[in-house]
Amino acid sequence: MATTAFTARSVYGLTCEQCGDGVIAPETSKYVSERHVRHLWRCTDCSYQFETSAYLPPDFKSINEVIASQ
Ligand SMILES: [Zn+2]
Repeated sequence: MATTAFTARSVYGLTCEQCGDGVIAPETSKYVSERHVRHLWRCTDCSYQFETSAYLPPDFKSINEVIASQ
């Protein structure tokens, strides 16, 4: 399974690196830590699997923190 940077975007979500088909949503998402989520994608056309990671920026505030600061 390949891990890829979150750059291959299409209008549907991501583009399969194997067949170029649009992949709409991750099959599973895992919380690695509070600010790091790992998405596992599977192309419905060719079954190619790949992972992406999403990181929240260090200055990220949750909606609860924003409301509490007002
Ligand atoms: Zn594919």
